[in-house]
Amino acid sequence: MARIILTGDRPTGRLHIGHYVGSLRRRVELQNSGEFDKIYIMIADAQALTDNADNPEKVRQNIIEVALDYMSAGLDPSRSTLFIQSQISELTELTFYYMDLVTVQRLQRNPTVKQEILLRGFAENNDAGENRPGIPVGFFCYPISQAADITAFKATTVPVGEDQEPMIEQTREIVRKFNSVYAPVLVEPEILLPDNCVCRRLPGTDGKAKMSKSLGNCIYLADSEEEVRKKVMGMYTDPLHVQVSDPGHVEGNTVFTYLDAFCHPGHFAEFWPEYASLDELKDHYRRGGLGDVKIKKFLNSVLQAELAPIRERRKELEKDIPYVYEVLRKGSGQAREVAAQTLSEVKRAMRINYFDADVLASLTAEQSEKYSGR
Ligand code: ATP
Ligand code: MG
Repeated sequence: MARIILTGDRPTGRLHIGHYVGSLRRRVELQNSGEFDKIYIMIADAQALTDNADNPEKVRQNIIEVALDYMSAGLDPSRSTLFIQSQISELTELTFYYMDLVTVQRLQRNPTVKQEILLRGFAENNDAGENRPGIPVGFFCYPISQAADITAFKATTVPVGEDQEPMIEQTREIVRKFNSVYAPVLVEPEILLPDNCVCRRLPGTDGKAKMSKSLGNCIYLADSEEEVRKKVMGMYTDPLHVQVSDPGHVEGNTVFTYLDAFCHPGHFAEFWPEYASLDELKDHYRRGGLGDVKIKKFLNSVLQAELAPIRERRKELEKDIPYVYEVLRKGSGQAREVAAQTLSEVKRAMRINYFDADVLASLTAEQSEKYSGR
């Protein structure tokens, strides 16, 4: 069976280092490994509109930002198909049919949806209206639309962060249900989480929730050298590590979490040869006698080393915006053909392809016979 990747991001802001370690870096590696037959990368504007109905212009403006981030991080349009979700109307059609295969109760149990309802301040009960908006129906159903996105491309592999686990599970259920009710035309996808656990849900610079565009606790791929430095120097560390001599805590210390996500032994050789590895550095911090500023400076060097080439490529791409839109236009055309093929298989399986020549002939014959005896 062909190995196919589908994944994407919501154009609600520029991409940050959480996206990078959670999914983007892996996609680029997989793309360059040549192990996959097809790679589809989707800018999920329609999904972003489900909880940004009051700010559609934000979604619109960020499409180009996400595309620039993709290409500057190393996604190559000659090897991966980059496209815009809303341009593939077949996805909406699939969503509508899949809605019949999922219950409201099942959606209500989805832990990511529950969390995001809280995060976005939607009222869960009947207290909606006065102070808080209710839950948009489209938002509530977005796990179903994600199932349409994934299955339209017959994706076998979905590289994402941990928050996407319930979505992939929902997709798998829809696939099983569809295939058993109708015919086995859909493919059950596998989630591909980062091997490194800290990358599955990178916390924000405030050390609290996951880094998220909507929370403003991000280091963006497009941040300038100075912005990155400022954010790193202002980061949350260990509140109990007051004096340099105090023993420090590494767990829950975001500076160390980021080092876990980004740093490799080569970085020590290059920027801090007094230590051979992150384990040595952590041991020293735990013993006490190692100041936060030194570690932040090291983290800054590590991040700058990773982000500088991305920043450079972005500057080049920004000079040719028409080219970036052309990439998206072409990619959307290619994606649409694939989704249309799947939709036609789905309709055939559902037997709602009434006007296909063979179906029409047999339907006509069947109905004519029924009425001919009158
Ligand atoms: P929004 O707040 O609009 O939902 P977001 O920052 O959560 O934005 P998404 O577009 O929802 O970003 O997520 C895109 C991809 O990035 C998903 O695969 C998701 O799992 C991954 N991802 C997002 N944030 C993180 C994070 N902090 N750590 C690891 N992966 C992440
Ligand atoms: Mg999200």
